[in-house]
Amino acid sequence: MKSLAELRKILFEIYDLKHAGALLSWDQTTYMPPGGAPARGRQLALLSRLAHERFTAPEVGRLLDAAEREVASLPADSDDAALVRVTRREFEQSVLIPTELVSALSEHSAESYQAWTLARPANDFATMRPILEKTLDLSRRIAECFPDRESIADPLIAFSDYGMKAASVRAVFDELRTRLVPIVRAITSRTPPDASCLAQHATASEQLDFGLGVIRKYGYDFDRGRQDMTHHPFMTKFSLGDVRITTRVREEDMTDALFSTLHECGHALYEQGIRMDFEGTPLANGTSSGVHESQSRLWENIVGRSRGMWEHFYPSLQAAFPSQLSKVPLDTFYRAINRVDRSLIRVDADEVTYNLHVMLRFGLELDLLEGRVEVKDLANVWRERFEADFGLPVPDDRRGVLQDVHWYSGVIGGVFQGYTLGNILSAQFFDAACAAHPGIPSDIVAGKFDVLRGWLSENVYQHGSKFTADEVVRRATGKPLSLDPYLAYLWGKYQPLYGLREEERTAAGVA
Ligand code: ZN
Repeated sequence: MKSLAELRKILFEIYDLKHAGALLSWDQTTYMPPGGAPARGRQLALLSRLAHERFTAPEVGRLLDAAEREVASLPADSDDAALVRVTRREFEQSVLIPTELVSALSEHSAESYQAWTLARPANDFATMRPILEKTLDLSRRIAECFPDRESIADPLIAFSDYGMKAASVRAVFDELRTRLVPIVRAITSRTPPDASCLAQHATASEQLDFGLGVIRKYGYDFDRGRQDMTHHPFMTKFSLGDVRITTRVREEDMTDALFSTLHECGHALYEQGIRMDFEGTPLANGTSSGVHESQSRLWENIVGRSRGMWEHFYPSLQAAFPSQLSKVPLDTFYRAINRVDRSLIRVDADEVTYNLHVMLRFGLELDLLEGRVEVKDLANVWRERFEADFGLPVPDDRRGVLQDVHWYSGVIGGVFQGYTLGNILSAQFFDAACAAHPGIPSDIVAGKFDVLRGWLSENVYQHGSKFTADEVVRRATGKPLSLDPYLAYLWGKYQPLYGLREEERTAAGVA
């Protein structure tokens, strides 16, 4: 395995270059003063250029060819065979993209992000329009490097959700929309529960302390991670020994920071759970954005907004916030954190309407890339489609097309489908975990999460990118991606909360 050993050394350097870049990005979105922006864009572009040049060098191609011969007799699911296979896939993706394009995108993304941090609060889409036009152009140019595609969005989708294409995502989303909209209609025809108990003042430090206590119980390893403050929460990693999360606090909303922390912790548990001997290789990452998001949503929603979870944690939440919650019964709190409402902002949306937000964005990405919508019309098209889907007017671009960081800090295309694929998969994984360990729901009531986390580590986390998303889902759950567990989960939870009727179940196609 001489060639594979040499290849590993180069892969480790590329891994370190990429994670040094991740550290600069983390700093940019947490502590960097605004004056650092121009240099930061340049530095990030340099690191991504160096990593790209190193990875696409002819030497890597030769070592890969030789390593393929060395692992040819190994079983496909051996670690070495998987490493060579995944490296080959990423190599073939990378060699098609010219280095200039990689650094142009990296530099443009840093500038765009900085402009967006000012444009969003100022409700200023006009400033972002030429920047976004350039982003769209760069996104298309990257996609055009891949001749083998049906839709121009396909290569961009494959970067984050390998194995999916525009057509396959669209098929899943069309079915989901058909089955989900009747549930949304049924729920929103009822009087929503009173959620005013959440809209109380609580200091940032007290909110953060409580959240950190919960994720400690979830199993987040603080020796290999920490939490910092940002505008748009995210998880990032600099090595398997340093997996960080970020959050933001609204002092007038007692649970906003908490659920954001639980969400990012779900991502971090995945990365912290990857086998340490994968460090420095392309296997040391979550396998797809859909599987990644399944973990954030599982820990945020399926566990974090469950009745059982709050039977355990509510007394300590009341003790931490006695003046706000001592007179609020658990049932009122539980209903409030599961209130379903048509609302303007994706990241604040409840878990039932959330997917409508994602499908709106996915549709717009396809229309932009495939040329059916122009950037100059984007803000208006957003308003029209949003109103059609949600029945709500969009009062300004700040709460419309400017709300999400994604299109303003990277490519347009392939960045939203993972959220809804993740919601779907979260229920499928959770069902499989409970089938293997029927005690999990009562563990949650007891504030114990090790059996659930252990099953997820065993079946999902430890493998990193060794298996594709489809392989992980089939191996862990015995089936390919299916909408049934997710719709059954939504029905099972919201039917009693909202007193939904039997005939409404049939309309949603819930078995
Ligand atoms: Zn997430």
